[in-house]
Amino acid sequence: MNRVHSVDALCYDTPHILKAALARAETYRILMTVTVRFAPSPTGRIHIGNSRPALFNWLYAKNENGKFILRFDDTDLERSKAEFAEAIEVDLAWLGIVPDQIERQSERVAAYDAAVEKLKADGLIYACYETSDELERRRSRARALGRPPVYDRAALKLSNEEKAALEAEGRKPHWRFLLPNHSGDPFETKRTEVTWTDLCRGEQSVDLASLSDPVLIREDGTYLYTLPSIVDDIDMGVSHVIRGEDHVANTGVQLAIFQALGAKAPIFGHHNLLTTVDGDGLSKRKGALSIGSLREDGLEPMSVASLAVLTGTSAAIEALPDMDALAAKFDLSSVSRSSAKFDPADLVGLNAKLVHEMDFDQVSDRLADLGIGGGEAFWQTVRQNCEKVSDAKAYWQIIDGEITAVVEDDDREFLSFATKLFPEGDVTNETWGAWTSALKGETGRKGRGLFMPLRRALTGMDHGPDMKDMLPLIGRHNILARLP
Ligand code: GLU
Repeated sequence: MNRVHSVDALCYDTPHILKAALARAETYRILMTVTVRFAPSPTGRIHIGNSRPALFNWLYAKNENGKFILRFDDTDLERSKAEFAEAIEVDLAWLGIVPDQIERQSERVAAYDAAVEKLKADGLIYACYETSDELERRRSRARALGRPPVYDRAALKLSNEEKAALEAEGRKPHWRFLLPNHSGDPFETKRTEVTWTDLCRGEQSVDLASLSDPVLIREDGTYLYTLPSIVDDIDMGVSHVIRGEDHVANTGVQLAIFQALGAKAPIFGHHNLLTTVDGDGLSKRKGALSIGSLREDGLEPMSVASLAVLTGTSAAIEALPDMDALAAKFDLSSVSRSSAKFDPADLVGLNAKLVHEMDFDQVSDRLADLGIGGGEAFWQTVRQNCEKVSDAKAYWQIIDGEITAVVEDDDREFLSFATKLFPEGDVTNETWGAWTSALKGETGRKGRGLFMPLRRALTGMDHGPDMKDMLPLIGRHNILARLP
């Protein structure tokens, strides 16, 4: 069996050699600067699911004093759009992620071309001329014969004349990387395990003989994601690649290409993918769960980030107030092997917990933007009743605006006593107690029958912040005006 390894530490089987090698790897880890990257394709907005690799990388870098690169995978020129790239930057900034460096693959084609030249010189990349229909037919045939649908390397057998003839017909080549899953004869493949120690999944291995040679360059000359990603990781000194587990098989291929390019591969971590409670992927609900729409819904970035990061780990899900607190809770090795199920409805509860604890300084600008006055006293009074900061608007309306008082006929007489017995002097947070005990003595009402008609008449609602604190904010003029 051939072996290809990510870190040389892992080539040995005997335990004491392994231990020494792991110690070397640890020294290497301590000495190296951690550099991570989040590499979205700017073909849409990011949603809560793909905010996870962004957050995981950001928190990992934060905990290791490392560097975070935002790298746009924009080699697909048709689908990539500058406005999506901009929106991704805005969404990340809202979450609290401000990259140390921003790169675009579309600007780095010369570096990829140079890597291709090296692979060509080493005979590791070859031209293929099959159309996608032809390939599909071959795959179906292989499946029918009970064989894995792996590309048979037929193009390697083409002579120069045959290639010239195909090109004369107008066919353009696409280029595949020759996987190192053979010992000299590429038509005699043999089991070739690529292994690595994954930060989330532990020991991993992929058999290169089970995979097709990956296409690196499309027929139109553009690059697929595989090679640019490797060249960039090498050139940008990426030390850790943290991404979704849908890339595990790619990692097998990419480790072989790192080796072919003579480069040391980064450390990998593949996290589980977010699904809804029914186990569906997020694609159907992408719109509603985009970071942009969660922001427009008035959710706090830290409730979104906390849920995105802690779901699917062994840590309890709670809303952390800031990135430092979330970083302290974050641990890639606590990411579970099964999928990360989440219920978007949980966001509101988490958000409410954060809002209840928010200081006035944290919200004063936003309250001002919402046209809400009342200063700190107002915020302290209403925050426990707000699931979102914007809920404060309804309470400000009670204080500052018109309300529709709710008055039951049965309560009219009681409320006219209330007008008479309203205490003289400044309205303070003692006023409510003095007023309601006087009313109780006069009318014999108590409990709900005593408080609720007052709350409804003064606020138009039958729930809300403590009336003791609301009275001074509503003020004498409004109070008396609202009583019948
Ligand atoms: N553009 C790829 C993705 O979003 C990047 C994968 C990687 O991080 O290497 O899945």
